[in-house]
Amino acid sequence: MDKLIIEVRVNEYAPREGNRHIPYTADELGRDAAAAQSAGASIVHFHPRQADGAPAHGQGDYEAAVAAIRQHSGLLLNPTLGQITVGGSARDRLAPIEQLARNPALRPELCGIDPGSTNIDVFDSVTRRFRSGDRVYANSHDTLQHFCARLRELGIKPALACWSIPFVRSACALIDMGLIDDPPYFFFVCGEGGTLGAHPATAEGLRAFTDHLPRHRQLLWSVGCKAGNLFPLAMAAIAAGGHVAIGIGDYPYPELNQPSNAQLVEEVVRLARLVGREVASPDETRALLGIPEREFRSA
Ligand code: ZN
Repeated sequence: MDKLIIEVRVNEYAPREGNRHIPYTADELGRDAAAAQSAGASIVHFHPRQADGAPAHGQGDYEAAVAAIRQHSGLLLNPTLGQITVGGSARDRLAPIEQLARNPALRPELCGIDPGSTNIDVFDSVTRRFRSGDRVYANSHDTLQHFCARLRELGIKPALACWSIPFVRSACALIDMGLIDDPPYFFFVCGEGGTLGAHPATAEGLRAFTDHLPRHRQLLWSVGCKAGNLFPLAMAAIAAGGHVAIGIGDYPYPELNQPSNAQLVEEVVRLARLVGREVASPDETRALLGIPEREFRSA
């Protein structure tokens, strides 16, 4: 079985009211990445944020975040494309990544794209109301083909974020079109806490994804959980040869007393060791994903 890739999803747009360890600024992102790497992570997914936690999607914000993470760590970078989650042209949505890629010292190794569309309104089961009613995360096939073609030209590997089986099927179509280099890297999104657009974070929810992967094709998959505890699925993924994408950006883990990202990664490493699975370093992760060596090394 391959060594385990641990991706740390450090902040999303989560507030510090839920977990005081959420990194906001570039410097905080850099230090958090360093701690997560020491604990065993090899990829970091992050959202640039302002000092007060608001989204920060200027080009300078992206560049500062990348520079700080690279200064403090050797993690592979998987920045958000989600600065325009709802609306925006394919070209606009990719613009920050295009800019980063112009500078080899800032070019990320990975970029998440979502090969499908879904409603992202959150349902509040206490009030029995949706918190919003019009949020559609739209990713047309024209947009996806543009993303895949440009990312390949930029030398950035897409992480295929699948919220349900139709996303997996569209991803397979993009692979069949020859738009994605081997081995494809799938990221299965499960959702709790009213995230109805993703599979439930249950064994059945995960198995529905893996049952619909193409057979006889070398590929990698990881699993994460929006708004819920990932550990039951992390154990299943570790045992099944999958990989784990965890972080306090997705869920504050009150049942673990609001841990840091590094503490979550330590727990995943501990689970892997229990079943004899080793953890991949950033260089080993690069090799597993077929990503070439970086031309510049700042950390
Ligand atoms: Zn994100």
